[in-house]
Amino acid sequence: MRLKKCKICRAEFSPRNSLQKCCSPACALELVKEQKAKAERKELKARKAKLKSRRDWVKDAQDVFNKFIRLRDKDLPCISCGRYHQGQWHAGHYRSVGAAPELRFCELNVHKQCQPCNNHKSGNVIEYRINLIKKIGADKVEWLERQDHEAKKYSVEDCKEIIQFYKAKCKELA
Ligand SMILES: [Zn+2]
Ligand SMILES: [Zn+2]
Repeated sequence: MRLKKCKICRAEFSPRNSLQKCCSPACALELVKEQKAKAERKELKARKAKLKSRRDWVKDAQDVFNKFIRLRDKDLPCISCGRYHQGQWHAGHYRSVGAAPELRFCELNVHKQCQPCNNHKSGNVIEYRINLIKKIGADKVEWLERQDHEAKKYSVEDCKEIIQFYKAKCKELA
């Protein structure tokens, strides 16, 4: 067998077989350690890449919540135009997330809406209000419209709870 250079100490040695990469058991052990450390660094890097920001978590929570709204309202028409149609359904916020972020996960504030109303008519809010009063009552609509809701900042933990909670609710309804 030809001489090989030890992977660890670079010394030349004559290998007993083609798999032998080190000159001695000590160097072989060192090589195993190095490989393990390398694998760990790689895994840590992958885990870090997977780490989501709080914003990502809020978005994921919103997706699950919105899915629940569409399931809850699956037999109802669009909250704004009252149509049943074949297109895409959204979960439309009555008070927008921009205007009232504290109501982004409020079930009273979010209802099934057709894609044209949601995307092209800014939520078709006048029709939305009329039908929302019919659906949940004027008191609750007026409550939604108040400007003194408690501000909320959703932590990653909050988002995880919301996701878990609404995933279970979706399962019940599906
Ligand atoms: Zn060696
Ligand atoms: Zn509509």
